[in-house]
Amino acid sequence: MISTNDIRRSFLDYFGSNGHDVVPSAPLVPYNDPTLMFTNAGMVPFKNVFTGLETRALPRATSSQKCVRAGGKHNDLDNVGYTARHHTFFEMLGNFSFGDYFKEQAITHAWTLLTKEWQIPKDKLLVTVYHTDDEAFGLWQKIAGLSEDRIIRIPTNDNFWSMGDTGPCGPCSEIFFDHGDHIWGGPPGSPEEDGDRFIEIWNLVFMQFEQQADGQRLNLPKPSIDTGMGLERIAAVLQGEHDNYDIDTFKALIAASESLTGVRAEGETRASHRVIADHLRSTSFLLADGVLPSNEGRGYVLRRIMRRAMRHAHLLGAKQPLMHRLVPALVTEMGAAYPELGRAQALIQEVLEREETKFRQTLDKGLKLLDEATEAMGDGAQLPGETAFKLYDTYGFPYDLTEDALRSRGITVDKEGFDAAMAQQKAAARAAWKGSGEAAAGEVWFDLVERVGATEFTGYTSATGEAQV
Ligand code: ATP
Ligand code: MG
Ligand code: MG
Ligand code: MG
Repeated sequence: MISTNDIRRSFLDYFGSNGHDVVPSAPLVPYNDPTLMFTNAGMVPFKNVFTGLETRALPRATSSQKCVRAGGKHNDLDNVGYTARHHTFFEMLGNFSFGDYFKEQAITHAWTLLTKEWQIPKDKLLVTVYHTDDEAFGLWQKIAGLSEDRIIRIPTNDNFWSMGDTGPCGPCSEIFFDHGDHIWGGPPGSPEEDGDRFIEIWNLVFMQFEQQADGQRLNLPKPSIDTGMGLERIAAVLQGEHDNYDIDTFKALIAASESLTGVRAEGETRASHRVIADHLRSTSFLLADGVLPSNEGRGYVLRRIMRRAMRHAHLLGAKQPLMHRLVPALVTEMGAAYPELGRAQALIQEVLEREETKFRQTLDKGLKLLDEATEAMGDGAQLPGETAFKLYDTYGFPYDLTEDALRSRGITVDKEGFDAAMAQQKAAARAAWKGSGEAAAGEVWFDLVERVGATEFTGYTSATGEAQV
């Protein structure tokens, strides 16, 4: 069986030997884009090359890019533990052409790698194209010999990528693997596509237009290619697994958390082990890239991820902080590919242990309060926003943690009520501050807090600047 580490190598070798510059992963905190919270696609470090602001010695590159999707336009946090294919941290394998080759070669490379190098049976694959992209449709017929019913035309923005309101954009083509009819789900474009039978493995973006501010779309003189394939998803395919969480890397991490908690991953505890393994990766990689837990911005996203994992550790009955003790297993699995993990290991362990020790002081009490508040509630009930706010304010429960805690019972949280309680507290704090006679300095601070949000960061909602691959 080919290991995940070998698949990464094999991908980079394939494109390296086809004239691509093999580029190491950029950090998770984008250096070139202040509007983006975390690097969330392989193309992010190359944005300025695609727009022409920067040039590279070679017009082709390939990478395995660390990505986090836990906020902003791409937020997969709530999917983790529940779908077979989503992580908060994952690696995106990509090949890029900066005005060099275009559709034909991009499709040829993808097809050759999947079906020749990796020997994936052709009849397990199907693809989508943007509904007006006849060129891509024809190329899939010609290069892959796919029949018309295996090339699905999609009219939505899922198959049209743009960098922002203006700038490069173009149709894309996604490659799906059919895991078989014993798994629920339908092909892309069908009403059942949310299932996990047909899993998107690779997205090929054909950047061929330049979107102008006046709405016009001009043809780019030198069209470009940006592709992204989830390493964990292709590893599942190549290791004969349906589920990303059953690949070698995750098996090892879950085995570590099983052995430390003494609880097997089956039935109800399965999701907890998965969440822990996933969040261990995102938190460790974020810490290694210099993000520290805090009450705002990136640091708050990190804290939210950590605390969610810590609640699941508690659910599994952990009586002591757990997360930091799993770090060695992660370093064993991924430290060779990402030496920064080993370098930061002591720091990662220390921060995780400190955070978990601190959170455990209020976690138990908070969960008791939550139990009492929801005791009489059934499926479909809603927790009052004030209770969620009390949990947030007094017990350090991020809003989404409360939501996650109630999810399995079908109870939702009144978000408006939560926001209102938060606003009320801010107003009260502001009034109290005014009373202290330090109004001038206080105003500035409170204005700032309102603009950037000191305690609750819910992510950037603007679509501009966010990468999608
Ligand atoms: P999906 O529709 O399954 O959520 P996507 O269309 O959002 O995927 P893209 O933005 O096209 O994903 O990213 C390119 C590739 O990265 C995907 O084809 C997939 O293989 C992988 N990928 C995307 N999101 C995740 C995730 N949360 N966890 C693991 N792999 C992912
Ligand atoms: Mg997605
Ligand atoms: Mg998709
Ligand atoms: Mg996609």
